[in-house]
Amino acid sequence: MTWPIVGHRWAVQQLQYAVAHDEMSHALLITGPENVGKTTLARTLVAAILCRAEGGKPCGDCLSCRKLASDNHPDFMPVATEDKASRLKIDQIREVERFLSLTPRESLHKVALVSDFDRATINAANALLKTLEEPPPYAHLILLATDADLLLPTIVSRTQQVNLRPLPSGEVAEALIERWQIEPERAQQLARISGGRIGWAVQAATTPETYERMQEALETLVAILGQDLPTRFATAQALARDDAVLHETLEYWLTFWRDVLLLQTDNDSVLVHTEYRPALEAIVQTTGIQKTLQMLETLEATQQALFAHANTQLWVENLLIDFPNLV
Ligand SMILES: [Zn+2]
Repeated sequence: MTWPIVGHRWAVQQLQYAVAHDEMSHALLITGPENVGKTTLARTLVAAILCRAEGGKPCGDCLSCRKLASDNHPDFMPVATEDKASRLKIDQIREVERFLSLTPRESLHKVALVSDFDRATINAANALLKTLEEPPPYAHLILLATDADLLLPTIVSRTQQVNLRPLPSGEVAEALIERWQIEPERAQQLARISGGRIGWAVQAATTPETYERMQEALETLVAILGQDLPTRFATAQALARDDAVLHETLEYWLTFWRDVLLLQTDNDSVLVHTEYRPALEAIVQTTGIQKTLQMLETLEATQQALFAHANTQLWVENLLIDFPNLV
């Protein structure tokens, strides 16, 4: 039975084998960039672990599979941060602990899926450590994080790790055409912009708002280049109002500035935002590589500050002051 996962074949085969032979690790850590497919893989794995069929798990048909599909499975607990910019709290981890301490009701196993684990507070991470040390035999904990390096080493060493990488853009385009019936030209465009993050490509292909939010973020960036200082402060204030939107905006700005770097290093054949070529070239004409590297660093630091709930507006103001002035 094939899992409905695009790409990540090696990881899928490894996990299918573990489920089929009942050798599934008690603690699994799935890492990879945002929207690369971690949640889809984890959800399918959860279904397979809980499925009551003899083989071909998940069958999609047994009571367990049906309960899971309707978000109504007593042996599954999903845990995530409130939104893109908040932390995972110790109370949430304590709930996981309580959940796993009671024996399963529907299946032979119990599974807790903890998303955004790299945004756990230090107290929450330490609380989880206890659960990892002595898991009940039926319990499985699946952690999702963008980067294992951002986690406590004592946690990483107690998990089995599966690292997902961006897919080749050809594979993303093919999946969009075949599974989501997107017309080829659009599929190729979205695959290119996705940078191999299939989750983003599917979202952009199926919900117009995703693509519009990206356009809005990039239009704002281009506008800032022509703004004087007072206007930039006003823009910063508006941006700092919504942490979740700001987080997404910064992600898109990073891809834009990476494009600037690609142009500066004569790698324009792999440019992501070809639609913004004139703006990219205008920056290249006035800006050196050193400045671009500094912009990328500042963008990443601003993202970290956002996660740490630092004074967001101040960070965004500093970031916007750093933008080159192309008037
Ligand atoms: Zn089933």
